[in-house]
Amino acid sequence: MNQCCKSKPVYRQYNGEDLCKKHFLEYFERKVKRTIGSHKLLTKKEKVLVACSGGKDSTAVLYILHKTNKNPNIKIEAFHIDEGIEKYSDKNTKNIREFCKTHKIKLHETSFRKEFGYSLCYIHTALKEKGVKAKSCTICGTLRRYLMNLYARKTKATKLVTGHNLDDEAQSITMNLFKNNTEVMRRLGPLTGIIRDKKFVPRIKPLYFCTEKEVELYSRLQKFKVSYGKCPCSVDAYRRQVGNMLDEFDKIHPGTKHCVVNSLLELLPSIRKGVKAKLNYCSNCGEPTSRDKCSVCTMISKIKPKTLNKKKK
Ligand code: SF4
Ligand SMILES: [Zn+2]
Ligand SMILES: [Zn+2]
Repeated sequence: MNQCCKSKPVYRQYNGEDLCKKHFLEYFERKVKRTIGSHKLLTKKEKVLVACSGGKDSTAVLYILHKTNKNPNIKIEAFHIDEGIEKYSDKNTKNIREFCKTHKIKLHETSFRKEFGYSLCYIHTALKEKGVKAKSCTICGTLRRYLMNLYARKTKATKLVTGHNLDDEAQSITMNLFKNNTEVMRRLGPLTGIIRDKKFVPRIKPLYFCTEKEVELYSRLQKFKVSYGKCPCSVDAYRRQVGNMLDEFDKIHPGTKHCVVNSLLELLPSIRKGVKAKLNYCSNCGEPTSRDKCSVCTMISKIKPKTLNKKKK
């Protein structure tokens, strides 16, 4: 059998080579650094804000960026949003605070309650009562992306890092393909978005080529204090179904998820070509949007008229 060394193996790669703990950790970190380098995710001078949920993915990417950064012109800080999902959010907030304290990483924090007046659970229920049938994850994602961009600007970050892994991306690509949603698909990739605007901080995904299993193994081997449990609000049945289907396919045809992601990377230049995305600034809060009023203001105004501060910078 093909093995890296004489130590006990913990992981088998696609090429059949078994890796021990030490060599797996090195392999994983190398892969993340290679993704950053080959896709030019960071330049020589950056202020990087890592969006940290307190889960395994964002904790792993924060740890690797912090540990491997030898460039004094690259500053790394963390940002956490408390969604107000009862015990789940409390646990995550506690974990990321402890992690940042241990590793001496500056942590910026906010919460849905502080920014919008309510927790995610309340917003979801209130919208439902008004007849808006949005899923928790859709509401949560919209509010989080809004705050991530806002805080990235507030902290003068030049790049915003998320913990999306290969499984997440393969699911998003397949879901958008199945729903004929090319507009969303062209915004995917390791460096997201097609519009470069002073109010948009570019988002990068250094774990782009790391599978969910690899990230979990890395996190467990590093003994990160993170919770591996599922969010109680996660009811995105469509994503779960697509995820299960890809898992099944990947078992029978190893490498399927990689192929899905690589296909998108090959297609991106042509599907982005000539696209002139419309950009406005929200008439209520001033944040970038393609419409007159951004989706967050539209959503929140349904449950609470006159919310959000006017025109933030
Ligand atoms: S699973 Fe959905 S609701 Fe829960 S934190 Fe993630 S996006 Fe938000
Ligand atoms: Zn080894
Ligand atoms: Zn707005």
